[in-house]
Amino acid sequence: MIPFSSQTKTNIEYAAELLRKAKYAVALTGAGISTPSGIPDFRSEGTGLWSRDEPMEVASLNTFRTDPERFFVWFRPLAGQIFNAQPNPAHVALAELEKAGRVRSIITQNIDALHHKAGSKNIIEMHGTLRTLSCTQCFQQAEAKNYLKAFVERGALPRCPACNGLMKPDVILFGEQLPQQAWYEAQSESRQCDLMLVAGSSLEVLPVAGLPMQAIDRGSHLVILNNATTYLDVRADVVIQEDVATIIPAIVEQVLNG
Ligand SMILES: [Zn+2]
Repeated sequence: MIPFSSQTKTNIEYAAELLRKAKYAVALTGAGISTPSGIPDFRSEGTGLWSRDEPMEVASLNTFRTDPERFFVWFRPLAGQIFNAQPNPAHVALAELEKAGRVRSIITQNIDALHHKAGSKNIIEMHGTLRTLSCTQCFQQAEAKNYLKAFVERGALPRCPACNGLMKPDVILFGEQLPQQAWYEAQSESRQCDLMLVAGSSLEVLPVAGLPMQAIDRGSHLVILNNATTYLDVRADVVIQEDVATIIPAIVEQVLNG
């Protein structure tokens, strides 16, 4: 085991104890759980993607509609990183937790499908997914893997096999509504959980950032694992500011074998 400080060890043990006692634990994950897999947080400054172009503008529904080429040029390196990324020990540990019946669902802000790749089953994708694309003309949906490779390697814009319309990745762009079904499910999970485990989210993007508040207002415990502070740290039972790829496996190891 990695040598943690005694304070961190105590926090890991307490988080594990809360997870063992929980009857309905739910995880909420954000960009920070995927950065150890090499996927930049494209909403944050200083990630390279930000310096080239303003994501809020280029990754918006408006740009996709008015200048799709520009959107796809911006999107291509990110899509390549996601296409080639593998789950890290944090994703794997959360999947083990679900398999062991210790976590009911994962609400994620990520579009990278790494929870799927790690073997998690009950995943609520709040910002959509890169696993599928939909035609902007006839709305036919298709598996992204059939298109993504050609797009990443050659920049070939994804075209609908039925009508040749432009295909849009099923990710929620800036200026686009959250998927309603996912939002209902995430609220329902947040209201019935007795433990919410926030991992790799700074809780800055609304409305998802408000979900842990719904949980604790109904008496749920709250564990926050993130490399930066969040607005709910003061109300959490446990806060651990360390690399999630080492902390989550350490906690899960304690839950399953401790
Ligand atoms: Zn079509």
